[in-house]
Amino acid sequence: MRLAILGSTGSIGRQALAVISEFARVNPDYRDQVEVVGLAALRQAKLLAEQVETFHPRICVLVDANAEGRELLAAACTASSSSSRTRLLLGAEALIELVTRDDVDMVLVAVVGSAGLKPTLAALRAGKRVALANKETLVVGGELVRRMLGRRALAGDRLRPIDSEHSAIWQCLGTGTTEGGPDRQSPSCLRRLILTASGGPLRNLPLDRFPEVTAAQVLAHPTWRMGPRITVDSATLMNKGFEVIEACYLFGVPDDKVEVVVHPQSVVHSLVEFVDRSVLAQLGWPDMRLPIQYALFYPHRYPSDLRPLDLTAAGRLEFYPVEADRYPCLGLARMAGRLGSTYPAVLNAADEEAVAAFLAGEIRFTDIPGLVERVLARHQPVHPDELSEETILAADSWSRRTVRSMIRDLARKG
Ligand code: NAD
Ligand code: MG
Repeated sequence: MRLAILGSTGSIGRQALAVISEFARVNPDYRDQVEVVGLAALRQAKLLAEQVETFHPRICVLVDANAEGRELLAAACTASSSSSRTRLLLGAEALIELVTRDDVDMVLVAVVGSAGLKPTLAALRAGKRVALANKETLVVGGELVRRMLGRRALAGDRLRPIDSEHSAIWQCLGTGTTEGGPDRQSPSCLRRLILTASGGPLRNLPLDRFPEVTAAQVLAHPTWRMGPRITVDSATLMNKGFEVIEACYLFGVPDDKVEVVVHPQSVVHSLVEFVDRSVLAQLGWPDMRLPIQYALFYPHRYPSDLRPLDLTAAGRLEFYPVEADRYPCLGLARMAGRLGSTYPAVLNAADEEAVAAFLAGEIRFTDIPGLVERVLARHQPVHPDELSEETILAADSWSRRTVRSMIRDLARKG
């Protein structure tokens, strides 16, 4: 399989490359299964250069053409022998060129934010398989992906979820979930999907202390090491709200069939309840390398060197209901998902900007839900017939402008 990785310098991207290296070591008979054909990142040119030196991709994309260290990357791309020389492309359009190449079979989308939408749609349109970590694509453009793939439940050979909860559900549903397998695999046999949430680092903090919460506190996630945006979203549970929307598209169920339960240990990654009330769960230590490997090699399972789960070492597994007043973002996300149209795009963009402002010290943690709610309240959605890549990205820009001006007002008021 010839693979392109978008966002190779991020948390998921680096773990994907680690999976590929480890896979070759643990499965020497299958070591040629994956060839890394393309790597792409926004601006970490130095790390990208190291990845080029290790994996010798045919194409390397640096989206920010002015990124620091680009000369180093250019040198790494030309350094290899002429047979394995890497072509360096600059700018966001180059992502489209990369994902639509004839010599790419699968695209692993690990960029963060709505920037994932365009290249994911382009890859699917070009008939590529997509391993999707970028949940924002389904949040903002799930309807477009559904139209493109022409079916209700999207998870399957063509679109492979990497988000740990969705990978868990996909694994519980069994191979061939949506390709017309046995009855238990059809959406009508699902009674409930139960997404687990760690509850984040603020799960036990008294609510009156929330206004003083610092970025450092929020970035210290108890069970997962992830990029900054998703880590903040895990503390507000906006991330879980995105995952509810993502689950509706991937498994073809309405939002009232998707429940969330707080599970601080992050060992049970999610559960499926069938109409006969049987419940299946997928378990493991929190480690994204498992869902990444499953997505890459689906429907096959290969040995890995991941730490084996020892239930006696895991100890108590706890489950709690979500406290709605602690996590208002979950309710906002569910509302935006139900309203559909361009609301989820507005939700995502407002949150992305608010999170960036919080991390930059411009607003308080508790300002995030209020800002998102006010932007949603002001939004004029497009008619469902007018939903397209362009109208979604226009709603995204409108939302960013609107929330930034609200953030400036907040700063002025001090
Ligand atoms: P990250 O911030 O660590 O990495 C993001 C990557 O995307 C970097 O390589 C960056 O260069 C690239 N990037 C950012 N903007 C880009 C743009 N405009 N064009 C091209 N590349 C761009 O993020 P992450 O934690 O790896 O998360 C990536 C995605 O995976 C997110 O959608 C996140 O929600 C999802 N996800 C992550 C985890 C996790 O454990 N990290 C788990 C589940 C889902
Ligand atoms: Mg997740």
